[in-house]
Amino acid sequence: MVLYFYLLVFVLGLCCGSFINMLVYRTAVEYELIKSKGIKKNEEKGFLRSLNGRSFCDNCGQQLHWYENVPVMSWVLQQGKSKCCRKKLSVLYPIVEMMMGILFLVHFSVGAGNTPLLLVVEFIIIVFLVFSAVFDLKYMILPDFSTVILVILAVVVVVIGRPQESPLQFVLSAVGSFGFLGLLYLITKGKGMGFGDVKLAIFMGLFLGPEKVLLAFYTAFVIGALVSLGLMILKKANKKTLISFGPFLILGTLVAWFYGDQLWNFWFYFMK
Ligand SMILES: [Zn+2]
Repeated sequence: MVLYFYLLVFVLGLCCGSFINMLVYRTAVEYELIKSKGIKKNEEKGFLRSLNGRSFCDNCGQQLHWYENVPVMSWVLQQGKSKCCRKKLSVLYPIVEMMMGILFLVHFSVGAGNTPLLLVVEFIIIVFLVFSAVFDLKYMILPDFSTVILVILAVVVVVIGRPQESPLQFVLSAVGSFGFLGLLYLITKGKGMGFGDVKLAIFMGLFLGPEKVLLAFYTAFVIGALVSLGLMILKKANKKTLISFGPFLILGTLVAWFYGDQLWNFWFYFMK
């Protein structure tokens, strides 16, 4: 029985990954970062309404059959090309879907919210975190609407999910996190990170609280530095290359959220 729950959560994650891919694409069109024949041809009804329309090919606008829309499987079976016009489909699509399946599973197994409402809210938080990370990775922008949704969901979690803890510490943690990244933003004159990262810090502080947010920042800076170093060694980047910092902040958030308690205990074990 338990196994079926895990399978269900995994499949739900895959489908949310599919949703993220679509949202990334349609947001990029909405922000006029890319042009789309598909959206022009099928729906000129505005962004939000376009989200519940049926799926169509990004390239030629052909409506997709259900079997062209199965997470991961379709991409593999169609060998990374669309069926209608043989356009190459990014390998990022199945990767995002797979990653979401795994993230949902990990979250579900390491201690998800103990009420159904909390669990749903937390799954939605993962969806928008990964959406922001993928969007930032591709376009170097953290969309404001995603950050706003995350902050609202964080308020819900603090209010309904942590009744024993004082909300004040989460508010202070949000202010402190915003101040900390804001200061770094001013010192580096916006070269180290964008203002989108500073806004995301409000969510991080509010959602994670004062202790785990430190872990999240620490993880983000360490992994960010290691990856930058790696890219420089591989000559894929130099000191002037801009690398989006958002995905590292989001990775740090997930690590601190899922494994924060264990990491704290591990740390203090060695400090004694
Ligand atoms: Zn097509």
